[in-house]
Amino acid sequence: MDTIVAIATSPGRSAIGVVRFSGPQSLSILRSLINDETFQPEPKRIYLKQIVRESGEALDSALVSYFAAPHSFTGDEMFEVSCHGSPVILRRVLDQAQNLGARIAEPGEFTLRACKNGKMNLTQAEAVRDLINSQTDAAAVQAVRQLNGELSAALQPAKEKLIQIIVRLESALEFVEDDLPAIQIEELKKELSNVVTNVERLAATFAAGRALRDGIKVAIVGCPNVGKSSLFNRLVGMDRAIVTEIAGTTRDSISESIVLRGVPVLLTDTAGIRDATDRIEEIGIQRTEQAMADADLLIVVIDGTAKLSSDDRAILAKARTGKQVVAINKCDLAAERQIDAALRDTSKVVHVSALTGEGLDNLAAVILEPLGTFDSEAAGVLITDSRHYDLLRRTVRSLQESDGILSQSASEELVLVGLHNALRFLGEITGETTADEILGEIFSTFCIGK
Ligand code: GDP
Repeated sequence: MDTIVAIATSPGRSAIGVVRFSGPQSLSILRSLINDETFQPEPKRIYLKQIVRESGEALDSALVSYFAAPHSFTGDEMFEVSCHGSPVILRRVLDQAQNLGARIAEPGEFTLRACKNGKMNLTQAEAVRDLINSQTDAAAVQAVRQLNGELSAALQPAKEKLIQIIVRLESALEFVEDDLPAIQIEELKKELSNVVTNVERLAATFAAGRALRDGIKVAIVGCPNVGKSSLFNRLVGMDRAIVTEIAGTTRDSISESIVLRGVPVLLTDTAGIRDATDRIEEIGIQRTEQAMADADLLIVVIDGTAKLSSDDRAILAKARTGKQVVAINKCDLAAERQIDAALRDTSKVVHVSALTGEGLDNLAAVILEPLGTFDSEAAGVLITDSRHYDLLRRTVRSLQESDGILSQSASEELVLVGLHNALRFLGEITGETTADEILGEIFSTFCIGK
């Protein structure tokens, strides 16, 4: 096995920079780096040592910590050197380590080794990556839950039940000459349907989980002067967009990242849609249409003090994709009665005032509603990864196929094929049955040094 090395801290200058090693040559490399062939470190103790250049001159004084196998992150022998965080020094340590026989680690290779050595399963390894990448506190909470094994634990009952069903069916096949009696088939179907319900319930958390991890794109659209930029500024919490009473001032789309109840949101303010009066405005409107196509959700802003214009109606029609929320703005002023009646059959309507902030809580709730109910404190673990989601859906499909075959009283062997597939899909989530090339693909999305 190679001994791998990587800089574990982010590139650039910093107070401290950490170089990490894992593999059987760790101790010998460490001894050479500090030029002390007799050095006998106690595991998990920290030593202040001089790192020495190949010429014999001092390179840096650094803190060195050593971890004996199997009690390390990777499960192999490891050590870490905390140097001063100069890229020149860190690079020098890497070069010398390579001369001493270490190889630069691939992205995620430390965690891959941890996985292969049984220190964690695949979902936990993925949680390490997600934790490092988390954009919000709520996303970090989810990642830590997964790291602590909550996702694997949530899958466990379905797996155990499936194994029970498989064992029963297999032994029935061995000992029973005839087909399974109807009563047993009914029983099996009931148990299978319970497993399907559980797996589906977990899969259904993906809308919330994905939003929490990757965020959602929300575009504010509407006619000029209805208050789009004011609403954008309110939501962003600062005066980012230019607000004027002159129609058509926002000529380009601008975006800002915000956090709405723990969910990262990329909010885009767009140029008002109307028949453009000049070329620049025309381009702005084209960009608006692009932003509308890209968005996960549209906030269609309507001026609540004026009658619904034909432009308003055109935008509402354009946005009618099931992913829009209508915000009737300026509710601090006298309302135009005709509007509510005109929007009666539009499902999601909220009254807001970008000026006073009234109704914005309501707006946030409506924006997040399609993601399903998730209260990151109270809810269980969420599915945040499309790989997991896809495998859960394949599990459900496979189980449903088996159920169909059972209903037709067709061959038990065929029923078993579906059940075994379902079990394999669940196993792929936690990495028990994941092919090496898929593992490679997953770990390539990790940082170097993790
Ligand atoms: P946009 O063209 O749609 O981006 O609209 P702006 O945000 O530039 O706002 C147009 C005008 O409406 C400005 O004079 C704002 O001050 C005013 N306005 C926006 N929202 C509100 C609101 O909620 N209440 C009131 N009274 N005025 C508003």
